[in-house]
Amino acid sequence: MVGTTWEISEENRKLFGDDYLVLKAVEECAELAKELMHFRDGKSQRWEVAEELADVLIIANSIARIVGPDEVMKAIRLKEGKLLKRIAKKKKEVKK
Ligand SMILES: [Mg+2]
Repeated sequence: MVGTTWEISEENRKLFGDDYLVLKAVEECAELAKELMHFRDGKSQRWEVAEELADVLIIANSIARIVGPDEVMKAIRLKEGKLLKRIAKKKKEVKK
């Protein structure tokens, strides 16, 4: 029996294979994009967005296993650093 997010993603990978999971990730990202556009237009509820977001986060764990968790963490740190710079720049603009 599997339980943790990491265990579930490993079981998912073993049973379905990398090629299927990559295609599934594309499908789930597309569904989230569609739901977000509907939410923005007032045609979708928060729970519907939450469900699609959950699908993406779950499959993202499996994809992280495929590309390598260390690589993903390195990319996250780089992206967060860039985001912090954009936030700081925006704060300066707002103060003007
Ligand atoms: Mg979905």
